[in-house]
Amino acid sequence: MNALSDLVSVRAWVDEARAIAVLTGAGMSAESGVPTFRDAQTGLWATFKPEELATEAAFRANPAQVWDWYASRREMMKDVRPNAGHEALARFQQRHPGRLTLITQNVDGLHQAAGSVGTLSLHGNIFDDVWLDPCMGAPGCGGVCAVSRAQPGRPPACGDCGNLLRPGVVWFGEMLPAVALAAAEDAAQTCDLMLVVGTSGAVWPAAGSAHTARHNGARVVVINPQPSELDDAAHALVRATAASALPALLAD
Ligand code: NAD
Repeated sequence: MNALSDLVSVRAWVDEARAIAVLTGAGMSAESGVPTFRDAQTGLWATFKPEELATEAAFRANPAQVWDWYASRREMMKDVRPNAGHEALARFQQRHPGRLTLITQNVDGLHQAAGSVGTLSLHGNIFDDVWLDPCMGAPGCGGVCAVSRAQPGRPPACGDCGNLLRPGVVWFGEMLPAVALAAAEDAAQTCDLMLVVGTSGAVWPAAGSAHTARHNGARVVVINPQPSELDDAAHALVRATAASALPALLAD
C-alpha cells in the first residue's frame, strides 16, 4: 500500500500494532483554531517569517518585537480546546496503557489538555516563561533569579540583574530537551507503526523520527490533507484532517 490509502486498511494496521508512535505537528491543532506556521502570519506579522522571529539571535536583537509576537500567539492560543483528534489519541492511550507513545512538536499544550499521558513535547510549551541567560548574580538575585520576581515589561526582566524572560519554547537552532528527544528516538526505533499527523516535516530533528521508524521496520502512515516532506517515508498516505482521521483510526 502507498499513495492515497483508505482508512479501513490503515485501521487494520492499528489493530495489529504492538507499539504505536505518533508524531504530531501544527496541523494537529488547526481544527482547534490554532493556525499552522504556514497560516499563522496575519495582519501585523504578515511580513515576518517564523524562522526570523523564532531564534535567539532575533530575540537578542529585538526582544520587544519577538516578545510581542509570542504574546500575540499566547493570546490566540489561550482559549483553544482539544479537538476530536487530540481526544481520540488520549482515549486510545487510556484504553491501551503503554501501547501508544505521543511525540509532539506543538507548544500549545492541547494533547495534555485532552488527557494524553507522557506526551513528549520536543519544542516546549509556549505558556512557560524561562530566563534568557543564567542569573548574572546581582546582589539582590541571591544567586538565582526567580521567575516570579520579574518586573513587568516587553519582555519582563529581573529587577536586579537585568536578565530577560523569554518563552519556554525551542527556537530554531537550539537543542531539543535531551530526555524527551531520547525517549522519542527510542519510541521511533521500537514502534511497529508510526502515525505522522499534521506536520510539514520541514523541522529537524523531529522530522527524523519518521525516517528512523521506517528504517527500523515500522509501517509509517502520514495523515495530512496536503503533501508533506515526509510522504516519501510513508507506506500509506491518508489525505484527511487530524480531527476526521484519528477518531476513525483509533476508535474501539
Ligand atoms: P507546519 O506549519 O510547518 O505544517 C503544518 C502541516 O499541517 C502542513 O503540512 C499542513 O498541510 C498540515 N495540516 C493543516 N491542517 C491540517 C489538519 N486539519 N489536519 C492535519 N494536517 C493539517 O508545522 P510543523 O510541521 O509542526 O512545524 C513547524 C513548527 O511549528 C513546529 O516546531 C511547531 O512547534 C510550530 N508550531 C506549533 C503550533 C502549535 O503548537 N499548535 C502552531 C504553529 C507552529
